[in-house]
Amino acid sequence: LIDIVKVSKSFGENLVLDELDLYIRENEFLTLLGPSGCGKTTLLRILGGFETPDKGDIIFGGKNINALPPNKRQLNTVFQKYALFSHMTIAENIAFGLKIKGKSKSYIDDKIRYALKLVNLDGFEQRTPDSLSGGQQQRIAIARAIVNEPQVLLLDEPLGALDLKLRQDMQYELIRLKNELGITFIYVTHDQEEALTMSDTIVVMNQGYIQQIGTPEDIYNEPQNAFVADFIGESN
Ligand code: ATP
Repeated sequence: LIDIVKVSKSFGENLVLDELDLYIRENEFLTLLGPSGCGKTTLLRILGGFETPDKGDIIFGGKNINALPPNKRQLNTVFQKYALFSHMTIAENIAFGLKIKGKSKSYIDDKIRYALKLVNLDGFEQRTPDSLSGGQQQRIAIARAIVNEPQVLLLDEPLGALDLKLRQDMQYELIRLKNELGITFIYVTHDQEEALTMSDTIVVMNQGYIQQIGTPEDIYNEPQNAFVADFIGESN
């Protein structure tokens, strides 16, 4: 579905991605895993259109999308900071992007109901963000992305701010959502266990390079080099 071809990105002297190649299949749950600063977020931002590569191409469904702005890509991003608008109700938060697109009220209302049901928050339309727990707010952020019917959901450490129990619940919920929606998930984390639990494919990154690509079983049982073995073996 997405072909990342020789993508490089520097910030000043700092070479963050170096001619990175990666193919992402349709409907897979692909996780970018690696230590802080290895370039995961930068790659996700390039896919989302929030950052332009210095060199290389992003091919999506056979089309080069390098020059397309974020809202023209069939990709939606959920960031760690959910950034809900605090002065708006949950319904207004979810409706925001759809209103800009000029969708009708009945279309928007249907979509809100559908998305809230998907994230197990039926009936939350009139609540405000500050009356919700962190996990509930994160679910709303996901609902807001889903109503745009993206082909791909980009998730940047979406569970990073949650406590362990909630994180585990949300991990299962994300897997269920991925299966129900039948869309591609690209997920960024530095948490090995999370990656091993959730992914179809794990891409282990370090300092702008891909160290290994494989299923959780491959990565766990047959690390290809010392970096992968050490990183996967570390506990949090
Ligand atoms: P983390 O898990 O801590 O978010 P990461 O693997 O996602 O790390 P990136 O956020 O992609 O890493 O950052 C990779 C490198 O690029 C870091 O050294 C970072 O300081 C640098 N960097 C990222 N964005 C910018 C920017 N806008 N300007 C300058 N340097 C940046």
